[in-house]
Amino acid sequence: MNPLRSLILAAAGNDAVRGLVASAPVSRDVVRRFVAGESTAEAVDVTKSLVADGLTVTLDYLGEDTTDRARAESTVRSYLELLDRLHAVGLAGRAEVSVKLSAVGQALGENLALTNASRICAAAEQCGTTVTLDMEDHTTTDSTLRVLAELRRSWPWVGAVLQAYLRRTLDDCRELAGSRVRLCKGAYAEPDGVAYDDPHEVDLNYVRCANALLAGDGFPMFATHDPRLVDVIGERARWHDRKPGSFEYQMLYGIRPAEQRRLASEGNVVRVYVPYGEQWYGYLMRRLAERPANVTFFLRSLVSRS
Ligand SMILES: Cc1cc2nc3c(=O)[nH]c(=O)nc-3n(C[C@H](O)[C@H](O)[C@H](O)COP(=O)(O)OP(=O)(O)OC[C@H]3O[C@@H](n4cnc5c(N)ncnc54)[C@H](O)[C@@H]3O)c2cc1C
Repeated sequence: MNPLRSLILAAAGNDAVRGLVASAPVSRDVVRRFVAGESTAEAVDVTKSLVADGLTVTLDYLGEDTTDRARAESTVRSYLELLDRLHAVGLAGRAEVSVKLSAVGQALGENLALTNASRICAAAEQCGTTVTLDMEDHTTTDSTLRVLAELRRSWPWVGAVLQAYLRRTLDDCRELAGSRVRLCKGAYAEPDGVAYDDPHEVDLNYVRCANALLAGDGFPMFATHDPRLVDVIGERARWHDRKPGSFEYQMLYGIRPAEQRRLASEGNVVRVYVPYGEQWYGYLMRRLAERPANVTFFLRSLVSRS
């Protein structure tokens, strides 16, 4: 792994660094570039403006690695409130939710995560929208896929996420190619044995996995900002005679916004992943770790404001 990425991910787990970043006023501006806000109302406002620009949305209530039942319960309630609001303002047809099982109690027991995720899926169905289960580090992959399979017995539209950096993922893609699957590169620090370390290998595997998903009769969701991969996906979609609307592109809020609009203006479905909530720290650190330019932007803001 890139040493800068490892350093930032290590810093992300450091309490002193957390205190510094979270309390520096400038952090708030940096956060707002990648995070919709801390409240449901702010998340809905951002969703409204993205939808007005022809985009679709998946919302993530930030928070992960919950080891406390009360926190898991409050996360579920936040999702229920959000779904209610999206429905009330007529946005549920264009906006779904993304859920991390670790935020709804996976570490406390798979059954608790299943029960809590089921409550969110039931509410999403009532509102006329869908849910995608984010994928976290490789130690949770099997458990997340088991919960996914259980949820799909009642709600076959629940979306899966597979990470191209994992060596197992091509097999998982073949298995799940008949369903809704988001393909991403993968955002966690993983050991060599389970994940490709070389970014070129990850890209090659992304293309192999994309082919497997496009060849199936499911609904692939290609989550990447990588211009080369975006081109390859367009090309492969044509080979597989996939019309726009039979697959989608996904990008993160605040990253390549012009490209998001360009793809949508060409008739593609583009979904923007919009995180919100008070627990934005871990998410921000992963975005900074991915791209040195983001770190420079962050440091520059610190200097220019202090
Ligand atoms: C919608 C969505 C959902 C995701 N869900 C998950 C999940 O559930 N689990 C998980 O592990 N990971 C998830 N991720 C994160 C993902 O795994 C990657 O860590 C992240 O997307 C970065 O990979 P990349 O494909 O964009 O390519 P990278 O290798 O990071 O970047 C490739 C190229 O993209 C361009 N680029 C990247 N960032 C920028 C930028 N800020 N500005 C301009 N150009 C840029 C540059 O040309 C760069 O060289 C998700 C990502 C997205 C977009």
